[in-house]
Amino acid sequence: MRKPSAVALLLLFGVFCATLAAANPPGTITLAVDATEAPRNLLHAKLTVPAAAGPMTFLYPEWIPGEHGPTGPIVDLAGLKITANGKPVAWRRDDVDLYAFHVDVPQGVSALEIALDYLGPVKEQGYSSAASATQQLAMISWNQVLLYPQGKSPRELTYAASLRLPAGWKFATALEVAAQTGDMVEFKPVTLNFLIDSPVLSGAHFRLVPLAAEITPPHRLDLAADSEAALDISPELVAEYSQLVRETGALYGARHYWHYDFLISLSDHVAHFGLEHHQSSDNRMRERAFVDGYFYASGSGLLPHEFTHSWNGKYRRPAGLATANYQEPMKDDLLWVYEGLTQYLGVILSGRSGLWTPQQFREHLAISTAQLEATAGRTWRPLIDTAMAASILYEAPHEWESWRRSVDYYDEGTLIWLDADTTIRELTHGQRSLNDFCRIFFDGHDTGPELKTYTFDDVVSALNQVVAHDWRAFLNTRLNSTTTRPPLAGIGRGGWKLVYTETPSPVFQGLEAVQHLTDVRYSLGMVIREADPTPGEPPARLRDVIPGSPAWQAGLGPGMKLLGVNGRVYSSTVLHDAIREAKLGSKPIQLLVQNGSFIDTYSVSYHGGERYPELERIPNAPDMLGEIIRSLAPQPK
Ligand SMILES: [Zn+2]
Repeated sequence: MRKPSAVALLLLFGVFCATLAAANPPGTITLAVDATEAPRNLLHAKLTVPAAAGPMTFLYPEWIPGEHGPTGPIVDLAGLKITANGKPVAWRRDDVDLYAFHVDVPQGVSALEIALDYLGPVKEQGYSSAASATQQLAMISWNQVLLYPQGKSPRELTYAASLRLPAGWKFATALEVAAQTGDMVEFKPVTLNFLIDSPVLSGAHFRLVPLAAEITPPHRLDLAADSEAALDISPELVAEYSQLVRETGALYGARHYWHYDFLISLSDHVAHFGLEHHQSSDNRMRERAFVDGYFYASGSGLLPHEFTHSWNGKYRRPAGLATANYQEPMKDDLLWVYEGLTQYLGVILSGRSGLWTPQQFREHLAISTAQLEATAGRTWRPLIDTAMAASILYEAPHEWESWRRSVDYYDEGTLIWLDADTTIRELTHGQRSLNDFCRIFFDGHDTGPELKTYTFDDVVSALNQVVAHDWRAFLNTRLNSTTTRPPLAGIGRGGWKLVYTETPSPVFQGLEAVQHLTDVRYSLGMVIREADPTPGEPPARLRDVIPGSPAWQAGLGPGMKLLGVNGRVYSSTVLHDAIREAKLGSKPIQLLVQNGSFIDTYSVSYHGGERYPELERIPNAPDMLGEIIRSLAPQPK
């Protein structure tokens, strides 16, 4: 492709306007986004909104679906100018609701022109409102570049969106293209909720990879990367993702989309996370995630999780999360289903599709379970409260994580659903399982992207349709528990138990490396964030200290900087050596620590040696965990 000349572009605009005027239903809002400056993190947008004389209020989306919180980046909205018939129209922000803008539409005006800019942030921590563009690629989230008029449901508002891309960039999205000329793309008009649910991934280095070609509707990996080399995904990995598509068919029995696009940004300079949509997902991984196993370790469970959300989260959604618009606060109390069940189904699909070996599946499960066991805050904060407080916990720092708790409904939700799955299998002598629950709950017939809400009672009812049991008490006990230990019964019923050994598993080491951590929480009781290799950056520091642990007893706390171990300058290796040596003697480990502008030595009395989580087989018990991750879908010959 090539960039059109200025004259050609004007002509194109003329053609598009004529097309839009002819094709769009009455009341359609047009939205033209100019992303040609995406490499410097700047997006321009122009809206044309039908209007009538009198007061109108325009809203910037605040509560973003899938982020479960008021994360709409209002601070990054700039350049807001409103005009009518070429004349400026004054706007005034609401005194209380900073996401609302009031306008008095003059007499004789039938449409307002709204211009705005989105100032893309450079911070790499966060979700869709963190770094989303680089020199080579951009993820465009429509909610960040539009306003919508108050008073109508996003399902009633129609938007005709167009996008101008940097020269030569390719793109993918769940939206349907109406017309494309050069770098200008015009999308078919859709409702506002459909538009916001359909971000656009674009980039200079781009590759589309069809998955499981024998399956309808079609599935694709859409890769945009910071380099051409990063697109070189192996045939083996493509085969495993194809198998993931087949396994979801076997598990859910139906699909609720017309096509599915895994939109994948591969860059070390964007935020790393996944965000679900009905017919696509926004997956952001390290640049070399598909070509380097070292990085893949931390991201390999991402796609099965986000894909599962098309069923659990988009097609079925807790009533409290299916809000009337983007300003109404969401109620997060059922996130242990929305996220917890998705996490469980995502990890078993990782096993079933071959993305994880059975050993890797168990290593992941051991790590997440052990982290919950080292979460002291579970004695004051029940799991249900982590869900209800999700919108503040997503942004909470890692410091004090053990005592505060985090968004534990993912990993503890996994244990609860494993507990439920193995309970069903036991009660029915292996005749039924959570697979049957999925068939019932996700309604085994194909539809387009519809939404069906559910409540706690609906979850209990679907479980009872699989096998009669006191599921209400089963769930309530686990959700409201303040016991020290997480719900481990599912692992035990699965034929395994959580133990601690002296050697970290490969998955444990991979996660430590990717996150720049030295994780000795199961021995000394602390998690160390390693020094940033950038000159002038702070040295290794304590990210968290587990209450009650040897490090805690010594008086250490999060944020302190680790300077030395037993008289030597700190390094991860020196610390590990000290832990092993302390096992053989009775002397405490001496840590030289900087706390603000003070330096002091702390004595940690610990002689238990290295400890890392692992699942160990219970002798003579059937391997139900192995059965749970057994493939359900035959691979085509
Ligand atoms: Zn999720």
